[in-house]
Amino acid sequence: MAKQFSSLVGLLFHEISHNYFPFYMGTNERKYAFMDEGWAAFLPTDIIEEYIPGYDYFKREVDGYVSLAGQEIELPLMIPTFQHNNWSSSRVAAYTRPAVAYQMLRETLGDDVFKKSLLEYMNRWAGKHPIPYDFFYTIEDVSGQDLYWFFNPWFFESGYPDLAIDELTSTNELLIKKKGQFPVPIDITWWTEDGSSQNKYLSPEIWKDGQDKIGVQLPADSKIVKIKLGNDHIPDVDKEDNIYVVE
Ligand SMILES: [Zn+2]
Repeated sequence: MAKQFSSLVGLLFHEISHNYFPFYMGTNERKYAFMDEGWAAFLPTDIIEEYIPGYDYFKREVDGYVSLAGQEIELPLMIPTFQHNNWSSSRVAAYTRPAVAYQMLRETLGDDVFKKSLLEYMNRWAGKHPIPYDFFYTIEDVSGQDLYWFFNPWFFESGYPDLAIDELTSTNELLIKKKGQFPVPIDITWWTEDGSSQNKYLSPEIWKDGQDKIGVQLPADSKIVKIKLGNDHIPDVDKEDNIYVVE
């Protein structure tokens, strides 16, 4: 029953989202499915979690994407939908990868700028036929940011998201490697000797200069015993290198 109800609520809000994409915005699903199915997969996230507390809708999107991310059959979003000849790869390209990419964009811009940019994209292109470049351009124009570093990997390239803990220095600087090509947020939880834990979050923007390693300073006077990188809402194809236990 619970599963049926969550599926029903999910489907309902998915289909309501289609009123906007593609019926308000004349996007071409046959060519760029991510321009409507991706939004219909992403937009219901907050409201589904509000209607069904404890049902982690977005984790399912992340898991669906990660199950195929970076594999040989997974194609970049800009490859036209009609080129797919594999059911799994076309599902990931239409639904889960763009839903995750839109959430990563939201975390990059922050809620307010993301919402303002998205609404302006809709205002400018309602009743017309936007292509992906119209979306990229409008978001850059309204946010006033050069987002090449974000749009290029997430929409144009093959690759995957994968962060890893490299090491914790003697002064408690945590070195984090970006092993995958795709920029994702850094979410660090660390535990100290007394059993308490703390958390630090950095948006995907931290990777905008193209570096593949960064250092994050944790409290230098803390006796850190364990560190965890990431959470269920951040895609990461290899989580085995996301836990660090201080010997
Ligand atoms: Zn749909």
